[in-house]
Amino acid sequence: SQNDLVAFIKDIVGDFGVKAKQKHIDLQFISPFKELSFAFDAEKLDKVLFNIISNAFKYTPDWGLIHVSILKNTDKIEINIADNGIGMNAEEKAHAFDLFYRGNKNISLGTGLGLALSQEFVTLHGGEISINSEKDKGTTFKIILPIIETKHVLEEKSAMISSKIIREFEDNE
Ligand code: ATP
Ligand code: MG
Repeated sequence: SQNDLVAFIKDIVGDFGVKAKQKHIDLQFISPFKELSFAFDAEKLDKVLFNIISNAFKYTPDWGLIHVSILKNTDKIEINIADNGIGMNAEEKAHAFDLFYRGNKNISLGTGLGLALSQEFVTLHGGEISINSEKDKGTTFKIILPIIETKHVLEEKSAMISSKIIREFEDNE
């Protein structure tokens, strides 16, 4: 079975509407498609997008912007989550996906799990996640997902990918 990515993201972004209003954030979802159906794990992708959009809110001052957009290549979907917030320095960029890593310690109230889990979930989709960020300018997260036709193929693919987080725990034993 397939899911419609456009409706799916629209819902997630919509859930941040009140928060955007409170913070006067220009929150937008930009899609050149009305519908884009393929097989993705909605439960995992929901956590990924929720985490990254939550980060964008946490690290973008009032009156900023947060734009979520999608693009499609022949066999891949690209999801971009861009903000014009505080950005990251080289050190923060290098460690952002590490388990329990938290940069900007003065303002970060989290546990440092969000991005590590997000990367894990994207990897289990056979996808990739990367950061483009500049201190005091803003941050863009790019998620690339292969277009997979069926849930069955997605599950088979996922079962063959080993868990980075489990591996890290094993290495620390
Ligand atoms: P948690 O998500 O577990 O509540 P967290 O937000 O601190 O805690 P991550 O989501 O894993 O942890 O992010 C790791 C670090 O990456 C953050 O502490 C922050 O320094 C940096 N970071 C993440 N997203 C952004 C962003 N949009 N702008 C600037 N810095 C960011
Ligand atoms: Mg976070």
